[in-house]
Amino acid sequence: MSAANLRIVLLGCPGAGKGTQASALCGRYGLAHVATGDLFRAEVAAKTALGLKVSDYMKRGVLVPDETVNEMVAGKLGSLSGGWLLDGFPRTLSQAQELDKAMKAGGGRIDLILNLRMPPEEVVRRMAGRRSCPACGEVYNIESRPPKIEGKCDKCAGPLLQREDDKDATVRKRLMVYEDLTRPLAAYYRSEGAFEEVDGSLPADEVTQGAARIIDRLLAGRSGFSAG
Ligand code: AMP
Repeated sequence: MSAANLRIVLLGCPGAGKGTQASALCGRYGLAHVATGDLFRAEVAAKTALGLKVSDYMKRGVLVPDETVNEMVAGKLGSLSGGWLLDGFPRTLSQAQELDKAMKAGGGRIDLILNLRMPPEEVVRRMAGRRSCPACGEVYNIESRPPKIEGKCDKCAGPLLQREDDKDATVRKRLMVYEDLTRPLAAYYRSEGAFEEVDGSLPADEVTQGAARIIDRLLAGRSGFSAG
């Protein structure tokens, strides 16, 4: 197996740094970054039928129905020929089972389920500081990863905003949803063997290094290949 064919699921609560780690790891290993939240936000911005359907769920911080997400993810994965990393999916047991079924049907398997561990109190603090660029999607944190110029995106100079669903009451709602529906996925995957964890509360670079060590070990173990 080469890095280009890796299939990775990234797990972690909202605010654990999944987006940042997903971008870093996809760049490093040449994987397609499939982020269901970003895909939905693009649909909402483009006011498509799917966007109109999901926007209310997103504003309230609750999950979009499984069927809708499963259908979108199946379409997206079906269009990819190389490796990928899923960020924000699966989020319920039923989504995980659907993904397993689709993988089995295609004769493939998930190579790694990587969980970013994070204490909930740290999450609330982090998410209050999160700002993102609606134009290019880049994410910042006013405490831990500030932009070079306050309020402006380093990449495209667009204005930085706080996402509607990063506001305090919605963050707490999203965390409750995570505890109820998504946290149990770690136990589901833990029993499968391809499950690994890294400490998501470390500085972002260290989390990436920890994740890369796990992926390199996986690649070396399978084919003597190691990505640098
Ligand atoms: P995220 O950016 O991953 O935190 O996702 C933002 C919002 O999109 C979530 O709060 C949900 O409303 C919706 N969403 C994203 N991924 C999923 C999923 N796998 N299942 C259900 N809803 C999702």
